[in-house]
Amino acid sequence: MTGQLYTKEIKKAIVAFWLKRKKSEKRRKRPAATLAVFFEICYNKGMGKILTDLHVHTAFSADGKSPMEEILSAAKRKKFGYIGFSEHFDCRFRGRFRALENGEDVEKFAYESAFTDADRYFSRGRALQKKYAKKLTVLLGAEMGFVEDLDMQERYCAVIGEYRPDFVINSVHKTAEKSFYKEIYKNPDGSVPPKAEVYGAYFETVEKSLDAIYPYDIVGHLAYCARYAPYEDRRAAYADFKDPIDRILKKIIAKGKILEANTSYPFGDGFLPDSEVFARYYELGGRKVSFGSDAHAKDRIGDKRERVIETFKEIGFTHLTVPVRGEHILLEI
Ligand SMILES: [Zn+2]
Ligand SMILES: [Zn+2]
Repeated sequence: MTGQLYTKEIKKAIVAFWLKRKKSEKRRKRPAATLAVFFEICYNKGMGKILTDLHVHTAFSADGKSPMEEILSAAKRKKFGYIGFSEHFDCRFRGRFRALENGEDVEKFAYESAFTDADRYFSRGRALQKKYAKKLTVLLGAEMGFVEDLDMQERYCAVIGEYRPDFVINSVHKTAEKSFYKEIYKNPDGSVPPKAEVYGAYFETVEKSLDAIYPYDIVGHLAYCARYAPYEDRRAAYADFKDPIDRILKKIIAKGKILEANTSYPFGDGFLPDSEVFARYYELGGRKVSFGSDAHAKDRIGDKRERVIETFKEIGFTHLTVPVRGEHILLEI
């Protein structure tokens, strides 16, 4: 008899709880971040591993190949929990040119090459975000290619202010003069500049990028200078660039940013920066890490994810950090 009563009471309490919950759900619309927290709770209760990839380019990026919808259906098939799009907003320096402006001969810069059409990207992306809400969390992010030019940084601020991306990756693709996409490795006389010089310039630019005036969450592909380098040993080894790497890692930690493992790198560990750098980051107290394939087509999403997760675990990391509109979601690995 007591047992029956007890069961009845519990049933009543459960019904009351759900009714109350339904009412309050009607009153307020739940933001994506709340849904993300729900996923986190489920995960931590052992409902299964949540797969994430927070660095994916679609055909909205100048160099992206697959339409957004194709990537999402591939992600759904592969049972991803989070897919973060990171279209390029990149004022790449292509060279100075002279032009006549109001009859005056002025020097201009070509910057537009990799600047995503934000209107089209965010409106299509937000629609798909809703459409997929029950199947996977779609995050609409942006990869800002760092430029020292403050006018351009303000332009990034304007994009972020107007379209409110769910997260921002801050990446260095170039120095003030030359791109690390092959260009910097070729002197005008055809010779190749020494590695210490090019990589030194790279890390110097990354240090500056950490103080960018636009808000960002993730530091993208640290050691990117190694991706297209022509050197036989292309590694940006921690031992060779100890001081700048330490300064960078300490700053990332002090600023509460997230260090990305980027698997668009077919050499060494198979991701950037290499495991020694992550180990040093951990040693210095860094705990915020993310996974990004930097896929530019649907077949690469989640590429080498297991390898990265295994390395993270070996080092001591226990979580991935997923930034969602300023909130940091922790997912156990
Ligand atoms: Zn990049
Ligand atoms: Zn990218």
